[in-house]
Amino acid sequence: MWQKTFIVLASLAHIANTKPVGNATSEFRSKCTDLALSLDIPHGTVSSSSLVAAGSTLQFPNSDPTCTRPSQSVSVDLCRVTLTVATSNRSSISMETWLPANWTGRFLSTGNGGLGGCIQYEDIEYGASLGFATVGTNNGHDGMTGESFLNNADVVEDFAYRALHTGVVIGKKISASFYGTQHSKSYYLGCSTGGRQGMKEAQTFPDDFDGIVAGAPAMAFNNLTSWSSHFLPLTGLPDAPTFIPLDMWPTIAQDVMNQCDLDDGLADGILASPDLCDYNPEGLCCGVSTNSTNCLTTTQVQTLKSIYSPLLDANGDLVYPRLQPGAELLGAPQTYFTGQPFGASDWFKYAIFNDPNWDPMSLKPADYVLSSSLNRFNIETFDGDLSAFQKKGGKLLHYHGLVDPVISSENSPRYYQHVSDTMGLSSTQLDEFYRYFPVSGMTHCSGGPGAAFIGNSARNSASLDPQENVLMRMIDWVENGNAPETITGVAFVNGTVESGIAFKRNHCKWPARNQYQGSGDPNNADSWKCL
Ligand code: CA
Repeated sequence: MWQKTFIVLASLAHIANTKPVGNATSEFRSKCTDLALSLDIPHGTVSSSSLVAAGSTLQFPNSDPTCTRPSQSVSVDLCRVTLTVATSNRSSISMETWLPANWTGRFLSTGNGGLGGCIQYEDIEYGASLGFATVGTNNGHDGMTGESFLNNADVVEDFAYRALHTGVVIGKKISASFYGTQHSKSYYLGCSTGGRQGMKEAQTFPDDFDGIVAGAPAMAFNNLTSWSSHFLPLTGLPDAPTFIPLDMWPTIAQDVMNQCDLDDGLADGILASPDLCDYNPEGLCCGVSTNSTNCLTTTQVQTLKSIYSPLLDANGDLVYPRLQPGAELLGAPQTYFTGQPFGASDWFKYAIFNDPNWDPMSLKPADYVLSSSLNRFNIETFDGDLSAFQKKGGKLLHYHGLVDPVISSENSPRYYQHVSDTMGLSSTQLDEFYRYFPVSGMTHCSGGPGAAFIGNSARNSASLDPQENVLMRMIDWVENGNAPETITGVAFVNGTVESGIAFKRNHCKWPARNQYQGSGDPNNADSWKCL
């Protein structure tokens, strides 16, 4: 998650349950144990290579608590390699390479989240369980805060692109060394900061992957960070006249639904095209009264209008699109409108101003421009020219939840359009290598009231059918030419798999939009059309 924080001292992790319950051969085991001795990694120090049996649970007792990853269960027999790699004389990455016994010949890199700082073990396990030789790194620092950026541009550079790329190059080498042959195809799976990392790879390292699945990308990074951080000075502290009390948000949510829910043809509490919702909060205005619990003052209405307007700089130029309406009950107020600094304001504190005492409340429009002008190591990740990736035959599947409360989904079609404009390609032409899917009713990377299970992570996977699983779809696209026309998402009753399927929905390929056809069971995917 963008807003969380994490640390992992991977090399100090150990296996709690060493009982071999899997079926790995003794040959696999000894090959794995010997691997650490034979690997020659430039600037690298291999800490261990050891067999992890299916059914084991790895414990990480020394991991940073902000990573909230104290352990990881492992479902397949695999060889786990832990190492550190220096990226300069004052920076390094920690990385893991998991080499499954039932290798399919494929390679996969996972990504990171927020300002982390954390190896996403659950994603590495997902990849390994599906037969990928899978890598993940700590993105060049430990933990979810930006403190490590202070006075160290090399750590910033790792975060911008270098940690991930280094992990890929070295991970492929380790995989080849272990299996005795190069991987067949190479894939990437990430969301949020991980989505940005996927886009960075498509833009800058086109040879790293054959297929990239990038979700809710934190791209236009400097400007996203300005947008994320500007809500505090916008709302003010809870006692400010501009502040909107948290208990007003359900009323605002209802007002949004009253105005826009039917835009997609069905009053179901989900906006299939929130970008078309021109929400007007005037109806909630009760003038200057400040003691009502079901209406807003004129000043608060102005705050609300700003939240649902694009953020501009002092010259009137776009910094970042508005928050899409519809996420009022799905975490947006708790993320941004609490009167507390947002975690990513650490970017300003440690990477832009290099000043631990910088006050997030002091953020001003000139700072947006400063951050985007500095654009440390091109962390913006908004280059529109993907021609090198296209030429090598790469495929890019981009998705974004339309009730994302953290990274506005309105930035994703903006990037798609930017690529179209930059390359001079129509949507039909982009289809060859780049497809974007808005996912209605999905929050930040997973969850939400819509058909949000799309296989982008283990916990968000309902099926391995390529039609219902974006990672399996990417394999099918790269290896068999079966490109996604729609992505079918699954919604479970009460959001829990055990309760059974509530409905499925075919999420449309942008710029098509999902529209209820006015009759037929709305829970039947065929009652909707991509128009
Ligand atoms: Ca609706």
